[in-house]
Amino acid sequence: MAELHPEFSKQPDYSGFFRYPEARISALAAELGRLDPSMPLLGAEAPAELERLSRDYSDYSPVLVERLRGCRAQLVASASSLEQVRLVAGACARHGVALTVRGAGTGNYGQCVPLQGGLVLDLCGLDRLRHFDAATGVIEVEAGSLMGGLNQQLEPLGRALRLVPSTARSATIGGFIAGGSGGIGSLRWGFLRDPGNLLGLEVVTVEPEPRLLRLDAAASTPLNHAYGTNGILTALRLPTTELVAWQQLVVGFDSWDRALAAAQALLGTALQLQALTLLEAPIAQQLPWPGGCPAPLAAEQRLLLLAAPDALEVLPAWLAALGGQIHWQAPQGGSRGLPLRELSWNHTTLHWRARNPDWTYLQMLLPQPEAPCLGLLRERWGDDLLWHLEAVRQQGGARLAALPLLRWRGEEALERLMADCRQAGALLFNPHVISVEDGGLGVVDADQVAAKAAHDPAGLLNPGKLGGWLSSPG
Ligand code: FAD
Repeated sequence: MAELHPEFSKQPDYSGFFRYPEARISALAAELGRLDPSMPLLGAEAPAELERLSRDYSDYSPVLVERLRGCRAQLVASASSLEQVRLVAGACARHGVALTVRGAGTGNYGQCVPLQGGLVLDLCGLDRLRHFDAATGVIEVEAGSLMGGLNQQLEPLGRALRLVPSTARSATIGGFIAGGSGGIGSLRWGFLRDPGNLLGLEVVTVEPEPRLLRLDAAASTPLNHAYGTNGILTALRLPTTELVAWQQLVVGFDSWDRALAAAQALLGTALQLQALTLLEAPIAQQLPWPGGCPAPLAAEQRLLLLAAPDALEVLPAWLAALGGQIHWQAPQGGSRGLPLRELSWNHTTLHWRARNPDWTYLQMLLPQPEAPCLGLLRERWGDDLLWHLEAVRQQGGARLAALPLLRWRGEEALERLMADCRQAGALLFNPHVISVEDGGLGVVDADQVAAKAAHDPAGLLNPGKLGGWLSSPG
């Protein structure tokens, strides 16, 4: 098992209470410098960089801010080749030092924050599109590739990634598979863990003599959304989808009930949509709208759509019949300013918090029908809770998920709200926790733990994030 501080499992606050002795870190750095003098390494002489490369976007959660305060890498290595990844994995295993993989560091739950210090391995330099299969559209791509850049490479081939987070411009594909869940495209393709969205992985193990494994789709499943706790992903095999010239639409409604009814009705049509976001009026009021898009009127609820060009023949009249008015339309990639997707998913939270830093958020799948649940929570929480909905495909059916914004009134109020949400029938995915299990359904996945035992027998990868490993005997 990992070299855990005896207080680890009891300690609610991880603020840097565990550090490796500096002598051990120096010995590790010296060995890495000897093995590959060209690999960039940052140590104690660069405290600001160590701090920066130990942070992500977990500051959305006041709970996580407190719990993660002071957690900082003692060494950062930046790998741009498979060989460098293997050198780092082997050296960490031989020196018994924790290794936390980092992509672009845009995760919201402290996924890449090193709870026990040790080494952070930055994989952004491992970024080649290795192979495109013209017959199937399947790609093999290195883990540090940015998804926006990848889509640019796929565009001339008439293909695109099925699913991207709203951070597609800045986040890596390895970080999305290891730490994300879904986003733009989830209305058509569901979530990352749905069978078919990941076809295979190339993985480096953390052992004195690291192995390079190629896993098929089934063997890759336990590493999908495991926060990099059970293998270093170096390359991914992914399906792509046909390129569509998505049209961005901003639609206004003068009532929430009408806007919600239109969103629900759209899910039952044959109109091809890539994304559907519904924003309550107070949220819409404070978002930065793309150039040329009028600011919303007071009390205007906004529906954002990415629609296929052929849907445009039907949509204007169809929406008007439901009380919606199209205020703005532009092809994706062709408009000035922000793309519409950067007003959706956790970008909504980002923009809101830029003006209201004392707010946070929640994530949940809404029960069907949604209105009674929303009504109950609105009645109990009033304007402390503002609604932001996203359409997704879940187990084959289109549904509405929610990322409501929440005025921060402390942990006790958060617990009460989460209890109210569950009581109202919502399925919560708590964004204020650090373990893979707590952020999901709260149950240990034995396959994830078995993959960790096989690929990281000393428990050095991102320690503290896989609850099933912490609680397993031995
Ligand atoms: P990081 O944050 O660097 O890492 C995430 C996790 O993956 C960490 O546990 C890390 O250790 C692990 N990891 C990274 N690379 C590897 C690797 N090669 N091998 C093994 N483990 C690895 N998420 C969504 O799912 N959908 C969204 O729509 C979305 N919108 C967002 C909007 C904003 C404004 C922000 C701040 C975040 C959003 N996120 C969203 C969260 C995050 O941006 C995405 O999940 C993103 O894909 C993470 O990629 P990254 O490169 O930043 O990963």
